[in-house]
Amino acid sequence: MRVNLDKNWTMDPLLRHMVDMTGHRDHAMLDLSVLSAVQELAHAAQTRVLTIVPVRDQIFIRPRAIMTVEKPARLEDGLDSNQPGEAIAQFPELKACLDSHEECAIHLGQDRTLTLWLPIWLKEKAHTCLEIVNPTPYNEQTQQVIAGIVGVYRNYQNLLDYSERDSLTGLLNRKTFDDRLAKMLSASTSGDDVALPETQERRCADEVQKQWLAVIDVDHFKKVNDRFGHLYGDEVLILIANLMQSSFRSQDRIFRFGGEEFVVLLRSSTLDQARKIIERFRLNVENYPFPQVERITVSVGFVDISAFESPVVILGHADQALYYAKSHGRNMTCHYAELLDDGNLQTTETNATVEFF
Ligand code: GH3
Ligand code: MG
Ligand code: MG
Repeated sequence: MRVNLDKNWTMDPLLRHMVDMTGHRDHAMLDLSVLSAVQELAHAAQTRVLTIVPVRDQIFIRPRAIMTVEKPARLEDGLDSNQPGEAIAQFPELKACLDSHEECAIHLGQDRTLTLWLPIWLKEKAHTCLEIVNPTPYNEQTQQVIAGIVGVYRNYQNLLDYSERDSLTGLLNRKTFDDRLAKMLSASTSGDDVALPETQERRCADEVQKQWLAVIDVDHFKKVNDRFGHLYGDEVLILIANLMQSSFRSQDRIFRFGGEEFVVLLRSSTLDQARKIIERFRLNVENYPFPQVERITVSVGFVDISAFESPVVILGHADQALYYAKSHGRNMTCHYAELLDDGNLQTTETNATVEFF
C-alpha cells in the first residue's frame, strides 16, 4: 500500500487547520491560525482573540487579533498598550460566564446578530477568550467543530505557556527573556514605543516611560546549598521567586535567568522610581524570615534600556553594576550609569557584533 504524501493532495480542511495551529512556537502566530480556522470552518462574520486583563479589582477586555470576512487575520498591535481595554461591564453575558466559570456566553444583538464568547480556561484562570460573531445561530455540527478548535487551542496554549516558563519557580525562562528583549528592542528601533506586552499601567500624557533591566543575584547562595543541601536551596529559590512576584508590579516581567540569577524588565519614568521598585524587593528579601537559614540577601545591577544597544551590551552593563555591588559588600542595588558618572566604573569595549544570544 502507498500513502500519498504529495503536498498537492487535498487535506481535509479541519485537519489542515489543526496542522497549521500546532506548527507554531509563538502565541501571536497561534492566535492568527485559530482565527483562520474558526473563520473558515464556522463561516463566521468576524472572529477575535481577546485578552482578559485584570486590573486591581476590575476586569477589562482587550482585542489581541481579529479576522473578518473581508480581511485576513491580523494582530491588533497598534493599540496603546497602556490602556487596559473595555470594561467587562459592557459585556454582561461574558461577565456572568467568567464569574461562574462557564464554557461559553451568548449575546443576541438587536439586529439578531449572535456573539459567542469562549473563554480559554487554563486551570482556574482564563486570560484569553475567543469571540465569534455570526448573523445566524450555529447548527449542532458547527458547534462541535468550534468546540474541537477551542480544545486544541487551549491545549496548545498550555504547551506554549509551559515551554516559556522555568519548571522550578514558574517564572518566565531564559529563552523567553531572549525573545522578549529582542522584540522590545526591535519595536523601539522601528519607531514604536518600547512597550512591555500586556502592560496595564496608566500614565500621564507628558510622562515619558523608560524601560529598565535589572539583574539580580542571590548572595552566597553556594553556602546555602553547602550547609542545608540542594533541596533546601531549591526551596529558597522558590521563596525568592514568590517575593519577586509580590514585590514587583503586575506589568513588570520577571525571568529566571539561570541558577540563582534573575532578570526583571520594568517600566518607570525616572531613575528614582526604578530604584525604589528594585529596592523594595531587595529589602523584602533581606527582611523575609527564611526557614532555618533565616537571612538571605540579593545584589542587583540595573540599567536603562536603550534601543541603540544590543542585548549583549545591555546585559553586560547590568552585570558590571551587579559585580560592583558584589565586590562592595553585597545586599545592594547599583545603577550602571551612576557608577560611571561617579568614576566607580570604567566603560569597557564590548564586541557587540558577537552574537551570544
Ligand atoms: P555570590 O554572592 O558571589 O553570588 O556567591 P554565590 O555563592 O551565590 O555564587 P556562585 O555563583 O559561586 O554560586 C551559585 C550556586 O548556585 C552554585 C550552584 O550550585 C547553585 N545553584 C545553581 N542553580 C541551582 C538550582 O537550581 N538549585 C540549587 N539548589 N542550587 C543552584
Ligand atoms: Mg550567580
Ligand atoms: Mg550568587
